[in-house]
Amino acid sequence: MTEMRYIDDVVTLELDVSRCNGCTQCTLVCPHGVFRMRDKRAAVVDRNRCMECGACSRNCAQGAISLEPGVGCAAAIINGWLTGSEPSCDC
Ligand code: SF4
Ligand code: SF4
Repeated sequence: MTEMRYIDDVVTLELDVSRCNGCTQCTLVCPHGVFRMRDKRAAVVDRNRCMECGACSRNCAQGAISLEPGVGCAAAIINGWLTGSEPSCDC
């Protein structure tokens, strides 16, 4: 397995670019590289890599990111089964 992904097109992640001030926090805290900076604002480059850990929304002071955290926990458990490691979803 080269990359952990969740099921395509079920992620609740939403980014309101109009509220973004370009602080870059979401790009720093996201463990799955979902965000990149583009024209000095955040952009979602691959939403299906999001595990809904909630780190980005908790660290966005502008309230530009919303999601319903929790689904990533299920994915973490499955990943733990597959790898034989302790499940961890960062929440
Ligand atoms: S954390 Fe929020 S304000 Fe900062 S770059 Fe990301 S979306 Fe924009
Ligand atoms: S919820 Fe977690 S995995 Fe998804 S975009 Fe935010 S920081 Fe990244």
